Amino acid sequence: MFKAFRILILLLILAGVALGAWRSKTRSVEWKYDLPVNIYPVNGDGSENVKQFLRTLTANDFKPIKTFMREEADRYDLASSASIEIRLGEIIEAVPPAPPRNGNALEAISWSLRMRWWAFRNADMTGPGPQVRMFLVYFDPAQTSRLDHSTGLQNGLIGRVNVFASYDMAKQNNVIITHEFLHTLGATDKYDPATNQPAYPDGYANPDLQPLVPQRHAEIMAGRTPVSQTEATIPESLNDVVIGGLTAQEINWQ
Ligand SMILES: [Zn+2]
Repeated sequence: MFKAFRILILLLILAGVALGAWRSKTRSVEWKYDLPVNIYPVNGDGSENVKQFLRTLTANDFKPIKTFMREEADRYDLASSASIEIRLGEIIEAVPPAPPRNGNALEAISWSLRMRWWAFRNADMTGPGPQVRMFLVYFDPAQTSRLDHSTGLQNGLIGRVNVFASYDMAKQNNVIITHEFLHTLGATDKYDPATNQPAYPDGYANPDLQPLVPQRHAEIMAGRTPVSQTEATIPESLNDVVIGGLTAQEINWQ
């Protein structure tokens, strides 16, 4: 009897967590108010260089993300409320758990739960309503040449993004941050993971362009600009990126 009661309580807690996640998922893309996007810098390699760099960051460094979202919302004729508010949070000393490299579904779920718990423990949010939390894990480019992949979770509205601690990379960092941020709102990847080549047609900024390649812009969830059938380049900044039709649908813009 007691055991059945315990299981019932556990099930109720799980149902509560699932319901909460579902509600913030749907409410995050209502676009009735500016959606708060909290950014938390993290020192990824513990180096003094990154530590110094993090101290110089301001909310202004991430303003291009808000501008991009606003300009793209305009293209889809959305009301002026369909925007985001960037809030720069405190530097977080702990490093969030890294996602499994080639993990199976169970490992991915286990990481997602640990990540949500970690975020709950380490990142404060103020104010009501759904809010996104983006953890930017910075690395010194002099020590790290290649970054592990970044992730955005729709459950919990959490992003974990690996970026370079360098002002030369700031514009490209904003492209990656925006990509992962849109994952938290339900946008899906639009490239072939085997080749990194954008998927046609949804990964193309202008799928009707004649000739089709080279494209001038990248679709944000494809991440690259197709310049030929087999080659694609990394956009330099959000000025070279658009939100394509399918991504717009996925984030409830259409
Ligand atoms: Zn992605």
